[in-house]
Amino acid sequence: MLIGGELVASQSGEYDYSISPVDERVIGRTPAATEQDVDRAVRAAEAAWPAWAALSPLERGEAMRAFGDAIAARAQEILEVEVADTGNTITPMRGDVGVAIDSLRYYAGIAHELKGQTIPATSENLHLTVREPYGVVVRIVPFNHPIMFAVARTAAALAAGNAVIVKPPETSPLSAMILAEIARDTLPPGIFNIVTGSGRVAGDALVRHPVVKRIAFIGSVPTGRAIQRAAAESGVKHVTLELGGKNPMIVFPDNDADAIAQAAIGGMNFSWQGQSCGSTSRLLVHDALYDAVVERVAARMGLIRVGDPHDPATGMGPLNSKVQHDKVLGFIADAKCEGARLIFGGGRPQGEDFSRGFWVEPTVFADVTPSMRLWREEVFGPILSIARWSDVDEVVDLANSTEFGLTAAIWTSDVKAALSVAKRVRSGHVWINGCSRHFLGVPFGGMSSSGVGREEGIEEMLSYTELKTINVML
Ligand code: NAD
Repeated sequence: MLIGGELVASQSGEYDYSISPVDERVIGRTPAATEQDVDRAVRAAEAAWPAWAALSPLERGEAMRAFGDAIAARAQEILEVEVADTGNTITPMRGDVGVAIDSLRYYAGIAHELKGQTIPATSENLHLTVREPYGVVVRIVPFNHPIMFAVARTAAALAAGNAVIVKPPETSPLSAMILAEIARDTLPPGIFNIVTGSGRVAGDALVRHPVVKRIAFIGSVPTGRAIQRAAAESGVKHVTLELGGKNPMIVFPDNDADAIAQAAIGGMNFSWQGQSCGSTSRLLVHDALYDAVVERVAARMGLIRVGDPHDPATGMGPLNSKVQHDKVLGFIADAKCEGARLIFGGGRPQGEDFSRGFWVEPTVFADVTPSMRLWREEVFGPILSIARWSDVDEVVDLANSTEFGLTAAIWTSDVKAALSVAKRVRSGHVWINGCSRHFLGVPFGGMSSSGVGREEGIEEMLSYTELKTINVML
């Protein structure tokens, strides 16, 4: 782990072991942090942040860029470890390392926007606001993009003058071990700390630590709610949550069925096994196009090559862990029982290469209805559901019929229809004639149970500050 600028083991001497999703071999180990380790990390961050906050935005930016350059210098090594540890395919993971570096540069560049205001509340006095960092920020990371979230989703907090503590995911923590070496060599001690271990012990201790007032979380709804509870039980804290999704892709009849099939499959992010909060996992197709789209999706799914995630030609690797694997198979079994129509996949791929490891075929069900579990619950896996609609009010109701509200995609060239539906869907992020892509500087985050707060833009940086008001009585 990286605590106060030093690479350390857990005080308990215990380790957690990383299992390869490809063949279930042990491929690495990371310290299992205790409450004492967490306290050490928080104290190190607490001691370090005032000097960091006292630097000018330019000086902090310079250090952040050096951090990014050092990540770039070891990008290939990080990539190999990330692919081995997550099972995600190598081509998009290269993009993840790129987003990490770009985000450091972006927030380094906009740190002068940490502005306050002057407010003309009275004519005789001066009323102004300034922004101050929280000090110690905890960032808890899920398993689907460990390196990207550890870096890209701490850059804003660093730019705002905070010290951060990253808690990597227990099933895929290995890339953070390389990051620990890089941060030790490029950032002031204590500004960037990494504490590995379980969510139940290390994560919970970080959330409950009395010095920690700002907690940023990406993960599942149940864990997000547990964190809100733990935060409330241990203090008055600012918690932001990026949680799950069950994202609708709404297709109007003025589309080409094959183009929709291609977009819908792209929107599922099969190249990281559909383990994506933003997967367009509910494809809602107008009656007029429904049968053609179902047929084209089934035909195109056969083009996804499942196999070695290190091979650039691979389109889908294994699921991240046994838990994920078993959960996805459970969804497939339930969907069959509940009467959804399996049109592709639905089992373990055949062949010697798949005899061990957490493999499931990319899978599609048609005729999925709101009463089914597959409609309501987030799979976080490679299952696309297709449903039909005939009326715009009906499709808006269908889109809004789950507890989630992360993203939505609307496909039509009728601008009025697209914008009207965009306004009516309860989703924090909407694409019109697109899906899945994120854009640096464009806010991302969920409504309903999908989250609290917005990230990836200037709002994220401001969220790592507290506003102080000063009234100057002249
Ligand atoms: P998870 O909630 O199981 O775990 C996420 C992290 O929380 C891990 O580091 C884990 O160790 C930690 N944790 C677990 N229990 C904790 C506790 N009690 N206190 C503190 N920390 C705890 O999620 P996961 O399975 O790793 O990731 C999948 C979920 O993440 C999905 O629901 C997915 O939609 C969501 N996700 C959301 C976004 C987004 O931007 N909205 C992005 C990626 C993933």
